[in-house]
Amino acid sequence: MNPLPPCPKCQSEYTYDDGVLLVCPECAHEWPKHEESAGTSDTKIYRDSAGNVLEDGDTVTVIKDLKLKGSSGVIKMGTKVKNIRLVDGDHDIDCKIDGFGPMSLKTEFVKKVL
Ligand SMILES: [Zn+2]
Repeated sequence: MNPLPPCPKCQSEYTYDDGVLLVCPECAHEWPKHEESAGTSDTKIYRDSAGNVLEDGDTVTVIKDLKLKGSSGVIKMGTKVKNIRLVDGDHDIDCKIDGFGPMSLKTEFVKKVL
């Protein structure tokens, strides 16, 4: 097991790893792991409307009716979208929707199918 850094507040060595945070049981201080901020800082994290982290290839559902620009089509709430691709942009999901073709969506309007 990797030795964890001591608590920056009380120097306790009984810190433990709580996923994204390190936690000190002695003074209840919590702080982010240092390794996380170094190196991966420019990796954008995409989250859906519920805060789930999205990844390429995920399946999501649309959480509200989305009008299509330049047409009368509407992507209905609850439409399942498979195999999304995350891109950097105003609309951060590239995908293909049955019956509509290639499409760009916003992460805030979808929910990951867990
Ligand atoms: Zn502490």
